[in-house]
Amino acid sequence: MSETLRETPPREAANGRLAGQVALVTGGGKGIGRAVVERFIAEGARVGVLVRSETDVDNLRAAHGASVCPVLGDVRDWEANRQAVETVVTTYGKLDTLVPNAGVYDFGDRFEDIAGEDLAQRYRQLFDVNVLGYLLAVRAGLDALRETRGSIVFTLSSSSFFSGGGGTLYVGSKHGLVGVVRQLAFELAPDIRVNAVAPGGTRTNLGGLPGDERQLAGLDGFDAMVAKTVPLGFLSEPEDHAGLYVTLASRAESGFVTAEIIRSDGGLEVRGG
Ligand code: NAD
Repeated sequence: MSETLRETPPREAANGRLAGQVALVTGGGKGIGRAVVERFIAEGARVGVLVRSETDVDNLRAAHGASVCPVLGDVRDWEANRQAVETVVTTYGKLDTLVPNAGVYDFGDRFEDIAGEDLAQRYRQLFDVNVLGYLLAVRAGLDALRETRGSIVFTLSSSSFFSGGGGTLYVGSKHGLVGVVRQLAFELAPDIRVNAVAPGGTRTNLGGLPGDERQLAGLDGFDAMVAKTVPLGFLSEPEDHAGLYVTLASRAESGFVTAEIIRSDGGLEVRGG
């Protein structure tokens, strides 16, 4: 490996592992994304956040002032992603880390229960957020990330590796993102590192497709089901995963890491039969 490809990690200030860095998180108004935003700011970063509701914009501003730059938009929309990157770069001068994170869930709906005539629409509703939304964010961020030799940290899922944590559409979308991580890591090296965190069951209000009012944490018995399934024996909170995003975003801590997916799922790999 040529020495020119190897960069000296910049010194990060003692008061934060991401001091001086700038990030953009999609779907960062709530849940896991919000925990990542808060942790990045606590580690010294300034963070742009692409959110869907005015309430999220107001809440983020009230909590974090000038350290946060919320942008209102839908991740399925190219213009919203482009605008989010432009706003972050204009406001903070650069972009070091992109966290594509916004997602929707299918609540484990069984494939054979989806009517054939509804399938194409349900597929688009889910894949457009979970997969296309990630791709649009990456495409929008490419130039800015290249300039900083930055990184991407995707939110994947235990459903990227296992069945049973969702229905065929959700599990299919999250498995598909494994390929996205790997191919992008290959294509974007050596300029941009591409990694992911794959949380398991987490207490959030993850929602469903349009018209579906269910929310993950509101499901009867969700806590107990997760606690029973995972070796570590509890349902995680969004904050439990956030430090891993910091590690993958930090050049000092993971400057030689790309194409990596860190599981934060209580040990599903080693659960008994
Ligand atoms: P959440 O509902 O709290 O967060 C998802 C965010 O995405 C919300 O803020 C929502 O407004 C936003 N969003 C959804 N559709 C959008 C759109 N079209 N445009 C813009 N924003 C949109 O749920 P969460 O659990 O924090 O989910 C975050 C990510 O974590 C998702 O990708 C999800 O698949 C993944 N995940 C969640 C769990 C879990 O158990 N909660 C486990 C593994 C992975």
